[in-house]
Amino acid sequence: MRAYVGDLLTAGGTRAVGFCEMVAPPSDDVVLAEPVAGQFTLRGTGATVHVQGRVAAAAGLVCGACLRRFSQTLEVDIDEEFARPTGQIEVAGEQALTPEDFVAAISADDVIDLTELVRQHLALALPIAPRCTPDCRGLCPRCGADRNAGGCECDTQEIDPRFDALRHWTEGPAPGGARRARSRPGGRPRREGE
Ligand SMILES: [Zn+2]
Ligand SMILES: [Zn+2]
Repeated sequence: MRAYVGDLLTAGGTRAVGFCEMVAPPSDDVVLAEPVAGQFTLRGTGATVHVQGRVAAAAGLVCGACLRRFSQTLEVDIDEEFARPTGQIEVAGEQALTPEDFVAAISADDVIDLTELVRQHLALALPIAPRCTPDCRGLCPRCGADRNAGGCECDTQEIDPRFDALRHWTEGPAPGGARRARSRPGGRPRREGE
């Protein structure tokens, strides 16, 4: 959606703009199957146009733990200042504005590309490590089975690391005597439960 803001730049004022349209996914592993919807307020300040708004998108993401696709609503607040490219900005009594002060310059025909603005903000709002659920159990590192769908054979063979110390007791002293079983009076190694 391209919003003409020439009138806001010259005469000032405020305009509400509804947004509802398909947006290209901000990255390859994201699906935006439904229109992104929201509302913008465009306010002319004299030399700039202040764009404020909020949009929501139902994003199809891939869980980083179990690799399943799931849907997550991304809600994005947008608050940006736009201006014409350098050279056309004249603000009396204020420091000249440079392109670095803005996310994007207003195009030569006084248009702001709201779709591109939304796409950029969705890219920033994407979770770094998407999870289908907060307690996703992920895939078994041995056989690749989805642990959310139930256990696999591997689970029963895994040794709880907390029992490693116990194992040394039953194996006895290590060769060379580096690891000795402590003994109590009576000479028997201490065992669990005594
Ligand atoms: Zn998952
Ligand atoms: Zn497994």
